[in-house]
Amino acid sequence: MNEAVKHNLLGLDAEGLARFCATLGEKPFRVRQLLRWIHQAGEADFASMSDLSKPLRDKLAQTACVAAPQIVGDTPAEDGTRKWLVKVDGANAVESVFIPETSRATLCVSSQAGCVLDCSFCATGKQGFNRNLTSAEIIGQLWFANKILGVERRADRIISNVVFMGMGEPMLNLDHVIPALRLMLDDNAYGLSRRRVTVSTSGVIPGMDRLRDECPVALAVSLHAPNDALRDELVPVNRKYPLRELLAACQRYLEKAPRDFVTFEYVMLEGVNDSEALAREAAALAGRVRCKYNLIPFNPFGASGYRRSSPERIRRFAEILQRAGVTVTTRKTRGDDIAAACGQLAGDVADRTRRSARLALKEVRP
Ligand code: SAH
Ligand code: SF4
Repeated sequence: MNEAVKHNLLGLDAEGLARFCATLGEKPFRVRQLLRWIHQAGEADFASMSDLSKPLRDKLAQTACVAAPQIVGDTPAEDGTRKWLVKVDGANAVESVFIPETSRATLCVSSQAGCVLDCSFCATGKQGFNRNLTSAEIIGQLWFANKILGVERRADRIISNVVFMGMGEPMLNLDHVIPALRLMLDDNAYGLSRRRVTVSTSGVIPGMDRLRDECPVALAVSLHAPNDALRDELVPVNRKYPLRELLAACQRYLEKAPRDFVTFEYVMLEGVNDSEALAREAAALAGRVRCKYNLIPFNPFGASGYRRSSPERIRRFAEILQRAGVTVTTRKTRGDDIAAACGQLAGDVADRTRRSARLALKEVRP
């Protein structure tokens, strides 16, 4: 059987693997063995799966494969952050970022090649959208990271936290994001707790409700503005799902969430959303849903047209929130010397929406 028509087992969660095993006439306990081999041992060759019978290994080799996307670039930053360029097909590559800290090691994964939502300050949005990643391509980023780091550091499963803050909007690709999340949480695979896996969304409400019902993990919402007029401009999806509805969706999410707060991400753009008046509005908004603010100093890229707020401005904004009793952290910029910081990820996306062409046209018009 040709590789292209073999079933790729990498992206199948326990339920998917159980269905696959049933088609081979195999018992459900094989699922646990396969998960452990594939995700804990990082094994892609069925012949090496020594506790499976020889006939089963042969059957698997004929009908299935464990195929991860290829890593085609590996860039280390001064601060230990590391960016991997992951080739998902002939035309598209996405990026994953490894962020080591003293007490944890976080992997930031991508969920789509590009993004349709076009937030005004985001490099991924500017390059347009090509396609959703498959669950194998999403979990493949974690599979590879553990494999590479494991070999280098002689340890298993180094990644302790995963954040869906790379390229793409995870709530627009839940069919593939949910099986990948289930693998991250499965004790036979990566065994991460729900609190250590965070999905970040720009506020796609139907997706938030579905995630809440099917696989609630920690939630971050890219707020960036405390009123609709400004948010419509910065995060265009706000025109479809305005703040009042977004806050109600956050409330619903919290009923099932592993943490009792939502993290509001707030990119600090000089002269745009960083005034004291807006800080007070942001503080008032915190009275409507249990939340913490995470201020993200804007990470510049190409011709974004924005500048990062000064440290003094960011400090003042944080202070106003704190004085109002709101918990606030300021994200340390990591990996910006290799364009691996939030919003700088661009990979290599063949834009099916032709947005880049439209943008280019707009730029040359008088
Ligand atoms: N699409 C999802 C997840 C990916 S973006 C979302 O928007 O939430 C991850 C985070 O980086 C989001 O909060 C996003 O708004 C932020 N971000 C995007 N561009 C940025 C930039 N240039 N500088 C700093 N943060 C940025
Ligand atoms: Fe898409 Fe998130 Fe970038 Fe907005 S910030 S364009 S939703 S990836």
